Amino acid sequence: METFDVAIIGGGPAGSSCAAFCALAGLRTLVIEREKFPREKVCGDCLNPSCWALLEHLGVAQRVRDLPHSKLDSVEFIAIDGHNVVVDLPTGDNCEVSVKRSLFDDLLLTRARDAGADVRERTTVTAVANSNGEKICSHRPVARPDLDAPQGRGYSCAWNIETDGGETFVARILIGADGRNSTVARLRNLLPRPARERVALQAHIPLPRNFGKRIILQFLPEGYSGQAPVNETQLNLCLVGTPPTISRLRKWAERHFEITPDQPWRTITPLARSPVPCARENLLFIGDAARVVEPFTGEGIYYALRSGELAADAITKIIRHADRQSALREFNRACAQMYRGRLWINRLARGAVLWPRVGSLFVRAARIEPAILQLLTAKIVSRQL
Ligand SMILES: Cc1cc2nc3c(=O)[nH]c(=O)nc-3n(C[C@H](O)[C@H](O)[C@H](O)COP(=O)(O)OP(=O)(O)OC[C@H]3O[C@@H](n4cnc5c(N)ncnc54)[C@H](O)[C@@H]3O)c2cc1C
Repeated sequence: METFDVAIIGGGPAGSSCAAFCALAGLRTLVIEREKFPREKVCGDCLNPSCWALLEHLGVAQRVRDLPHSKLDSVEFIAIDGHNVVVDLPTGDNCEVSVKRSLFDDLLLTRARDAGADVRERTTVTAVANSNGEKICSHRPVARPDLDAPQGRGYSCAWNIETDGGETFVARILIGADGRNSTVARLRNLLPRPARERVALQAHIPLPRNFGKRIILQFLPEGYSGQAPVNETQLNLCLVGTPPTISRLRKWAERHFEITPDQPWRTITPLARSPVPCARENLLFIGDAARVVEPFTGEGIYYALRSGELAADAITKIIRHADRQSALREFNRACAQMYRGRLWINRLARGAVLWPRVGSLFVRAARIEPAILQLLTAKIVSRQL
């Protein structure tokens, strides 16, 4: 059985960022990922400008810029009755861009692997259980005086991780980075029931002529649609509705974009649920596994990358025998700080999309007073770490 300092379940932006930072800090790092990358993912594919600082920390900002992408110059909000408001986005190197998740996530997972993480793809976690940490110490193959101390405070428990292929792993710290339907949270009985079930569909379709470099957020009677060009030829199209309305939304998209009924769509649900506590003992949650934000705001990847970085910092301290409780308290505080002053925007966005007619009224009001939407958009796309 292989033993690791940290096992990260999920190789999306949260898991890859955490894994890369842990491996760079010299920790024995395992990533277990269900899919084989590159893979697509239900997402609007938009990178909030605040991601750039984190991508610099990871040493991949230039490589992301080198991927096929679109630089986005504005957001157009369209009400149900067709009235619209256009808000400009920041320009320059650190502008908002859209890039396919197949490319972006693969680059991040490769970064984690290159930094020294052991990445197991096509491997699904099926069970996790606590075990006694001292048993783990006897398996450790190489002594590292800087990291391994017999009485270290981080040794109090460890995790046995079982996977679908029958392989098992042991890790001193377990990270749930496995997205909104986190298996780790479910296996620990921590996964909250979704507050109100909605469903999202996503596809890459041919880019309509003259679409430009804008993001469109369009309210529709049945929900909403997000649209953004991801390169010179493709448009990312997202539809968000409820189970009874989603097929009408799909029909709208087929008419509006002249796409055929056999267009393949990716799907995900739920879109909202209560958060899972970020840290308890040697179990931490990051990214969507910890907290799901409203897709409308396009901030999820930022939170995933940042929480991965914060978790890596806490884990490194714990493995290096700093006081575990204070490292965890600091991590919890930093996570709360990351969301502070922003959740009201998220609630506002959620309200607007749950009741698209109210969202549309908001767009109409913003036609008279554009400062409202300019302010909200600026708050979402400009942020300090
Ligand atoms: C419709 C929609 C549009 C969105 N648009 C945007 C946007 O434009 N910009 C933005 O920033 N955010 C957007 N988001 C949010 C964004 O997609 C997420 O916040 C982001 O993907 C979270 O990253 P993560 O690493 O936490 O989780 P994920 O990206 O979900 O990665 C989790 C990984 O865990 C793996 N996994 C799951 N279970 C297991 C298991 N049992 N064993 C092993 N591996 C497992 C999965 O295969 C997956 O690769 C959108 C979301 C939706 C639903």
